Amino acid sequence: MSQVHNFSAGPCILPQEVLKKASEAVINFNNLDLSLIEISHRSVDFVAVMDKATSLVKELLEVPAGYSVIFLQGGASTQFLMVAYNLLTDNGVGAYVNTGAWASKAIKEAGILGKVEVLASSEDKNFTYIPKGYSIPENADYLHITSNNTIFGTQLKEFPECPVTLVCDMSSDIFSKKINVSDFDLIYAGAQKNMGPAGVTMVIVKDEILGKVERTIPSMLDYRIHIKKESMFNTPPVFSVYVSMLTLEWLKSLGGVEAIQMVNEEKAALLYAEIDRNPMFRGVVEEQDRSAMNATFVLEDESMNDAFNQALSDARINGLKGHRSVGGFRASMYNALPLESVQVLVNTMTKFSESHGN
Ligand SMILES: *Cc1c(COP(=O)(O)O)cnc(C)c1O
Repeated sequence: MSQVHNFSAGPCILPQEVLKKASEAVINFNNLDLSLIEISHRSVDFVAVMDKATSLVKELLEVPAGYSVIFLQGGASTQFLMVAYNLLTDNGVGAYVNTGAWASKAIKEAGILGKVEVLASSEDKNFTYIPKGYSIPENADYLHITSNNTIFGTQLKEFPECPVTLVCDMSSDIFSKKINVSDFDLIYAGAQKNMGPAGVTMVIVKDEILGKVERTIPSMLDYRIHIKKESMFNTPPVFSVYVSMLTLEWLKSLGGVEAIQMVNEEKAALLYAEIDRNPMFRGVVEEQDRSAMNATFVLEDESMNDAFNQALSDARINGLKGHRSVGGFRASMYNALPLESVQVLVNTMTKFSESHGN
């Protein structure tokens, strides 16, 4: 048994039992004596996987009627453009809140196609807080927000009251806590942060917001085509969809989103308490905006970084290096990361200050 504590920011840790089942299916799927990745995506066996993945999303998030769930390729990054293709009208404006690197990219991509307006930004303080209290223009085609800022470690604790179509990039906190899907019109998430392996992106979209732009949308970028073809307009990423399905089954078996939310809150509370208690460490972002998924922190004395990295590696803690735009450390505590791994990290930090502090 591997005892590595995997705090990777993405691709993320997945449950051991999911990895085991996935590896078995690669050799012999459903006792067909064929691999999952060498059968037709239109076979009965794979269509059942796609159906199951879709229905698990609907069940776990209680997706109301009038919304479609689809699985696409091209990562969340393709959604930056696809949202604009499908929702940004010729004379309209897409409104954005700039809370980090991913939001900035979404703004840039939409700007290729039409007019964008940045309502608020936390770039002035290297995205260490979530801007609040901005007003949303009622004539905007949509408002785009990012629920969790993976790189900087901030997370929206409340979503804005939104008079226009609300689009949310939930790549790094989807399925980590309860959300009200009906508060949103479009949600997208690259699977590799909290749902599965890289290669598939989940989209939940309210059907009635589509079909309102004049432009001709290229087929691969048209949500309506993917909805009509039930995520099989072209060959879907079968392995990524399958592993996502297994991960959602695992989540359901634990008690679903509400149950994992309690564990996630416990993990985050444990780590942030140590960051605040231990004089050698300092959290990077404003306290009220701290992410339960990605905790960013630095050593007060950066000359200790190498020694701390050695302590991490001695404790078999992996993936704690901060993003190059923030520096320091980032502990990503996605659904599949056990509480015990956070305990090991906290113990390592405590011991480090006992042996290196003064
Ligand atoms: C990782 C990430 C993305 C980019 O996802 P890709 O699948 O690599 O395109 C977008 N948004 C957020 C919030 C992310 O964490």
